[in-house]
Amino acid sequence: MHYNEEDNVTAPIVIIGTGLAGYNLARELRKLDSTTPLLLITSDDGRSYSKPLLSTGFAMGKDADGLGQADAGEMAEKLNAEIRTHTRVTRLEPAARRIWIGNEPVVYRDLVLAWGAQTIRVPVEGDAQDAIFPINDLHDYRRFRAAAQGKQRVLILGAGLIGCEFANDLLTGGYQVDVVAPSTQIMPGLLPLEAATAVQGGLQQLGARFHLGPVLQRLERTGDGLQARLSDGQTLNCDLVVSAVGLRPRTELAAEAGLQVARGIVVDRLLQTSQPHIYALGDCAEVEGLSLLYVMPLMSGVRALARTLTGTPTMVSYGAMPVTVKTPVCPLVVSPPAVGAEGHWSVEAQGADVRARYLGPSGQLLGYALTGAATQERMALNRQLPPVLAELPQVLSLKA
Ligand SMILES: Cc1cc2nc3c(=O)[nH]c(=O)nc-3n(C[C@H](O)[C@H](O)[C@H](O)COP(=O)(O)OP(=O)(O)OC[C@H]3O[C@@H](n4cnc5c(N)ncnc54)[C@H](O)[C@@H]3O)c2cc1C
Repeated sequence: MHYNEEDNVTAPIVIIGTGLAGYNLARELRKLDSTTPLLLITSDDGRSYSKPLLSTGFAMGKDADGLGQADAGEMAEKLNAEIRTHTRVTRLEPAARRIWIGNEPVVYRDLVLAWGAQTIRVPVEGDAQDAIFPINDLHDYRRFRAAAQGKQRVLILGAGLIGCEFANDLLTGGYQVDVVAPSTQIMPGLLPLEAATAVQGGLQQLGARFHLGPVLQRLERTGDGLQARLSDGQTLNCDLVVSAVGLRPRTELAAEAGLQVARGIVVDRLLQTSQPHIYALGDCAEVEGLSLLYVMPLMSGVRALARTLTGTPTMVSYGAMPVTVKTPVCPLVVSPPAVGAEGHWSVEAQGADVRARYLGPSGQLLGYALTGAATQERMALNRQLPPVLAELPQVLSLKA
């Protein structure tokens, strides 16, 4: 196919993904530029929704339809954009500034990869693997809610942030919950032991049963449900399984196209990948070595990238970014210290109220975990935290 540079100059800004990254970027772009053609492409139905609410559906009395907001048609109108739904991008071709949807090429002026992260699947033996539900988007959630209808016993794989949020929500919804995870505490790597113990205690008071240490080895159908065999020989009966063992940024298509990838798609402070005119944002992006699968960094990226794409190169910076974990039975706010930060946890605990501060060599605050009533101190501590990605004074120029 003949390649013509002029085609690209008049071509649309193409955003792959209609999650919080893709839609918020489109919104922010439209505030700054109402006319440049904008094309969003998504493999799902393009319905706008807030993913964090998926782990609050039972407490809020909302099913998948209740959590969905505008559909793709309404979004296209609001954003003055074309939105292609149920459309999977299969290849990037940076040298020709185009992408491929099967056999169809689409040229772009600039391309934004906002295609998120995918659930990690663990290998399990037995005949009931189709009863394991990952929940990473509204479609997954719809399938899960349909399967959970009229059932009582849910086994959750994974005791990370998302596994614990689902445990709290399902217990609130009247389900019996077993949590299986190979770690020795919940939210390992995120929480010091005392804070983890407080949250686990809260969930146990609601009725959760934790099985920490083993993994699920085998899942089989029995007369009235499923039997899960754990690696320590224990067996548990349940009706369905939620998998919350973790997420991995989607990097395959980027790597195949020669873009630099590490844990995520490697981008600089302008969110530009190793190729000109291609940017990455949200769960799929690794910004200066930081692969943070949260909304706050994504929104900082949205604001910077919208400006960059409208002619004002703007570097992303992150302030303190505490995470509020949605375990209402034991409120938890955590601001993990930077990976490898030198320091130690200093913990004061009164029952379920834990104030854990991660202090550096000169006593400066580098991170914290607050549970129960101690979460009220979050604002005061936030002011003392260092930024996660400090503002830089100099202006970088775009790679040509
Ligand atoms: C249950 C749950 C609770 C959470 N709670 C919180 C919270 O309380 N606070 C917080 O900060 N974060 C939370 N998070 C994380 C937060 O939701 C994510 O960081 C954020 O939603 C990621 O948005 P995204 O747009 O980058 O990716 P996604 O929402 O995953 O969007 C990816 C998009 O790309 C599309 N796509 C993928 N591949 C292709 C392809 N090849 N071609 C075309 N389209 C493609 C998909 O269809 C989708 O539209 C939670 C996550 C989960 C799962």
